[in-house]
Amino acid sequence: MGLSFASFLFSSKDVSGRWSCVVFLKGCNFRCRHCHNWRLVVGDEGEIEEEKILYEISENPFVDTLVLSGGEPTVYRAEELRVFIEKVKEANPSVCVRIDTNGYRPEVVGALKDVVDGFAVDLKAPPSRPELYSYTAGVEVDVDRIIESVRLADGMPLTLFRTPRYTWLSEQDIEDIGNFTARLKSPWTLNEFVEVPSCPFNV
Ligand code: SF4
Repeated sequence: MGLSFASFLFSSKDVSGRWSCVVFLKGCNFRCRHCHNWRLVVGDEGEIEEEKILYEISENPFVDTLVLSGGEPTVYRAEELRVFIEKVKEANPSVCVRIDTNGYRPEVVGALKDVVDGFAVDLKAPPSRPELYSYTAGVEVDVDRIIESVRLADGMPLTLFRTPRYTWLSEQDIEDIGNFTARLKSPWTLNEFVEVPSCPFNV
């Protein structure tokens, strides 16, 4: 299939204390309500060449981190992602790498652990409430797959777990996610939820 890059940007906010090149890949296996990047998910975005990203990373002396985002990077084959990451490290050997993921392909998370420095894994609902997880993700979710990704990613230097404070999560749900993550080594952040009325997945 090959990696399909929509865009990239430079950011000092995505990874605390670091300058990141955030690369957005097309496609996703979820259809979350109020997805901010739904145009990437449905492939309704432009395309940029891999060479352009590699050139910018090698030429920008401030960049110390590559963030693979989307969309959902793990919908691609682990081997394709690995080859790209290795090219980035060749272009700029001091770069650390984080993959942002919904955690639904633990096989890819596990296969890339040795070439990345961590993962930002979404926790969209309490793992104890699969029906709520599926409602949020817009597809039938097997939460064990996400739990496995959490287990694989936990404790890596750049790993964190993230939850948007969706309006349909109760205080008890938030508390349950907090209790789940309290047992983990990596930090959990509860983020502001911003509605996206134009998202076609809000059904
Ligand atoms: S996991 Fe959900 S929020 Fe993230 S890109 Fe996919 S559809 Fe959007």
